[in-house]
This record gives sequence, structure tokens and C-alpha cells, in this order.
Amino acid sequence: MTATRTIIVGAGHSGGRAAEALHEADPERDIILIGREAHPPYERPPLSKAVLTGAAGSRDSYLHPAEWYPEHGIELRLSTGVAAIDRAGRALLLEDGARLAFDTLLLTTGARARTLPVPGAAEAGVLYLRDIPEAEMLASRLGPGVTLAVIGAGFIGLEVAASARQLGATVHVIEIAPQPLGRVVDPVIGRWVGALHARHGVTLHLGRAVRAIEPGGTAHRVILDDASAIDADMIVAGIGAVPNTELAEAAGLAVRDGILTDEQGRTDDPAIRAAGDCTRHFNPLLGRAIRLESWQNAQNQAIAVARCMAGIDHPHAEIPWFWSDQYDMNLQSLGIAEPGAPLSWRGDPEGADFIAFTLADGRIAAATGVNRAKEMAAVRRIMQRNVAVEPAVLADPATRLVSLAKG
Ligand code: FAD
Repeated sequence: MTATRTIIVGAGHSGGRAAEALHEADPERDIILIGREAHPPYERPPLSKAVLTGAAGSRDSYLHPAEWYPEHGIELRLSTGVAAIDRAGRALLLEDGARLAFDTLLLTTGARARTLPVPGAAEAGVLYLRDIPEAEMLASRLGPGVTLAVIGAGFIGLEVAASARQLGATVHVIEIAPQPLGRVVDPVIGRWVGALHARHGVTLHLGRAVRAIEPGGTAHRVILDDASAIDADMIVAGIGAVPNTELAEAAGLAVRDGILTDEQGRTDDPAIRAAGDCTRHFNPLLGRAIRLESWQNAQNQAIAVARCMAGIDHPHAEIPWFWSDQYDMNLQSLGIAEPGAPLSWRGDPEGADFIAFTLADGRIAAATGVNRAKEMAAVRRIMQRNVAVEPAVLADPATRLVSLAKG
């Protein structure tokens, strides 16, 4: 009898962790991990932080060195693109023309940076940050005497801005919303983060859209909607990510801004599952399907789905968690806040550290913590266990959150 063959498409964070978990759960399985990038699977968070500032090398972000995979029964095919899925024939068509049969398939194709849709952006060579070559290129060019324009004050844009300031560059951040992080945190916290950047010497252009990019100044001229202009040597756009769902869509799988899956990563084809940034997956704790772009989901959803593929009952059910490091600030967010929901505070929102909670039915629905990493670990447990809480108790500095977490 030949071993079951599972092919994993996308050798990023999810693909790497899934291959590892699948081999651990089922050592006899024939596992092939295919990825378009030249690097073995790696974690992306350091790219905008330690790799950009030079505090870490890009290889430090590898999950394992390339040789680890064959040593653990996993065939790793790098620099290899998958062009199509032949569902009826249970085979993949590779971009080099080869055909590869599978019994089961796992799609971990991730996401890519959204490109800036304004005149002149392509001609100016606007930069994005998603992979190691882009991080290395940015790191090699940033430094004193360089002016950087960052378009978009989301997490990636702001982390690039913070790293560039640490390297001595002059930094402008342009954001269409009235405050940074508009899509992900309450405006009060967004303004707090904006003030942090201003204190570190970043010039913020808030409530301004980029209309065009023209040649001019030292290299590029960014034209804003009030007709003002910013001259910059380099431009980085951090305006969101687009899930890589084209393979799934072309194969007729259900896709809605993410490949639709259940809590076990199952798509509407019993032989095909998906995990990571490319999925819109059902979260049993929230009772609805969500798409996430986060380290936690890339890692833990992939492990859960791989274990389910091996026949182990391991549905993925976690409270969404995300962190960002900028300068000496650590920001963490838990759950998914409803826009405009009223907040309960622990600590002073004007101070150096605090947590903002959103409550629903006497439970914490979402929380954002600034410089309160230890307490956020307790909040995560409180939310995961669905413990009932009172806003006054959460606000009381005498309350030890870790004791609430015990329920
Ligand atoms: P990816 O890591 O995107 O991997 C997908 C892989 O699939 C890619 O290598 C791609 O080339 C490959 N692929 C796609 N299509 C094909 C194909 N047809 N054939 C072959 N290969 C294919 N999250 C946090 O929680 N905290 C952070 O601080 C944080 N910082 C981040 C900083 C940066 C700069 C970035 C880019 C992301 C950050 N994230 C952070 C998010 C986190 O890194 C992602 O959610 C995670 O990388 C997603 O993993 P993934 O495996 O789903 O997708």
C-alpha cells in the first residue's frame, strides 16, 4: 500500500507549521510542501521590526533551516509556483509545466500587499513589505539623510516608520483617516499612537489622500489631495493585503475575500483544506466566519487543520490575537471590536499604558492593550474561558486580572 500523499501549497508560516504538525501526527504520510519564494518557511513579523533595523538577520526568522524538512520526511520544493488545481484528476499543475498527483491538498497561499492605485505609483517604483527580499532591500537603503514617505498608517506602515526613524531617516506618514490605525483600533488609541510617532519625529499627514506620484525633488514627489506635495527618496505603501485565492477560485472552491472553510479548515471539496491568511474560516467562539492576517492564526490554525487532516479531533477555536511593536511600545489586540462600541478603560488613556475593553453580555468582546503585555495574557485567558466580568472590576487597579482568568 502506498502512503497517502498530501501536498501543501504555499511554504510560508502556515504551510511550514502545517507540514511539521502533519508529519508529527502521521510520520508515514508522504508530504510535499511547495512554495514560490526562494526561502524556506519563515515568520514575517520581524521583517518590519528587527530585520529592518538590523537587530536580526532575515534567516533568524526561518521556522527551520531548509535541510530540516527532508530530515523530517517533508519534501520541500522552493522557487516553485502552482498554476492550477485539477480537482477531478486530483493533481496540481505547476508553473514549470509539471503535474503532481495528490490524495489531499492543503492551501496556505497567504496574502500579498495591496498595490497603490494612483497615477505614477508603478513608474516611481513604490515599495511594499511582505517578504525577505523586500525587507533586505529596504534595510539596505534606509538611514540618515534619506527621506521616506510611508503611505498608510496601519500596522505595517507604522512599524516601517518606527524602524526607519530608528535608522535615522526622515519620515512622513500619509493617512486618509483622521487618525492612525483607523481600521483596527478605537480612535482614542489611534491618536495615542499618532502622538507617539510625532514625539519620535515622524511628520504625520492625517486625513489626506495621495492623488499621484510624480518625478521631482530628490527622487519622487507625492501629491496629496489638498495639492500639497512631499518630496521623498523612497516611498513605501502599507495599505492592506489581498488574500491569494486565485488558485482556489479558478478550481471552483467557494471564496469570499478568503477561501471559505469551517473550523477544521475544510473547503467545499472533501480532499482540500486551507489555513492562514488566505482563509475566511468559521470561528466557533465568535459564531461567525472571519479572515485574519496574524501570526497566531497563521501558526495555530495551520497546526489545528493539519492535525484534523491526520484524523485527530482538533478544531481551531481561539480568540483572535495580534500584536505590534513600534519604538518601545507594545500594542496587543484581542477579539474583534465592533466599530464605535463604547469602551471601558483600565489605566489612563492619556498615560503610558492602559487597556481598553469592549463588553457584550457581561463578557469581554474585545480588548486593546498598550504596554500591558502581561495583563493582556490574562485578558486572553478570560476571553478564551468566556468569564463574566464587571467594568468597574476591570477598571480597578487593585484587581489582579490573572485571578479573574481562573474564572
Ligand atoms: P504567507 O506568510 O503570506 O505565506 C504564503 C506563501 O504562499 C508565500 O510564501 C507565497 O509566496 C506562497 N504562495 C502563494 N501562492 C502560491 C502559488 N500559487 N504557488 C506556490 N506558492 C504560493 N502578525 C502579527 O500577529 N503580529 C505582527 O507583528 C505581524 N507583523 C507583520 C509584519 C509584516 C511585514 C507582515 C508582512 C506580516 C505581519 N504579520 C504580523 C502577519 C503575519 O505575518 C501573517 O499573518 C502570516 O505571515 C500569514 O501566514 P500565511 O502562511 O498564511 O501566509
